[in-house]
Amino acid sequence: MDLNVYHKLIYREISARKYFTKKCRKNGRRFCPRCDHRKLYKLSSGKHRCSRCKYSFHDFSGRWINHGRLSCVQWLSLIKLFELELSVRKMAEQMKLAYNTVYQAVQTIRCSILAHASDASDLMDGEIELDECYFGGRRKGNRGRGAAGKVPVFGILERNGKVLVTVVPNVMAETLIGLTVKTVRRGSIVYTDKFRSYDSLMFCGYRHLKIDHGKRFTSGKVYINGLEGFWSWAKERLIKHHGVSKKNFPLYLKELEFRYNHRHTDIFEIVSDYLCDLVPKRD
Ligand SMILES: [Zn+2]
Repeated sequence: MDLNVYHKLIYREISARKYFTKKCRKNGRRFCPRCDHRKLYKLSSGKHRCSRCKYSFHDFSGRWINHGRLSCVQWLSLIKLFELELSVRKMAEQMKLAYNTVYQAVQTIRCSILAHASDASDLMDGEIELDECYFGGRRKGNRGRGAAGKVPVFGILERNGKVLVTVVPNVMAETLIGLTVKTVRRGSIVYTDKFRSYDSLMFCGYRHLKIDHGKRFTSGKVYINGLEGFWSWAKERLIKHHGVSKKNFPLYLKELEFRYNHRHTDIFEIVSDYLCDLVPKRD
């Protein structure tokens, strides 16, 4: 976001609020967050009531931005500091807020990113790199066995496109190939190393090319340097969080995936949009 626009927005709560409420509408119109209906009544309290399901709501009801106790001006500052990758401690200092308040708000941003990531349904195609990596733990472990305490992550990268990273229970063929089949269009060229879990890819409709890391790291276009670049980029960024719990790790991982996929774009506007999304209902 342009710095001048940002400064104008954070100057007054009313302009900050307008910026977010606009994002909560569909084609400029308010709608019921429960049933999507557009015929609403304004209540004397300032809330709106749906004429169909009778739900009473305000502009941010049911949305991520409604979590926590931040004003709209504070949300704008928080998004700016999140964009700049400041630690929660530094954000709290700058915003003069309690550490826990800021931590909860940043976790809300991460949850909105995670919810958005699981919505994406476009299949990847073209030239694809696959690889797995272990995060956490102190000791170096072997692939598969011996990696106790570490979290296995599977990565799928579309060359000149996006990366998708998922925490997996194990690195067995059915896990890795199952995810590939759900994510990558048949007929794509798939590059991996010689790990045997990838052996049956050729039977799943892909052109499978393998690089032998024991011999050399690239052979023409046969390489997985894109994903290896992502792993080291991600690990370097995780260091600043001084250890992430296993429970929270998927949230941090999706944040990294999001940052990587938007590394050439301004994420301010995107994060603001995500925060104004409705929180998915649990079935
Ligand atoms: Zn309704």
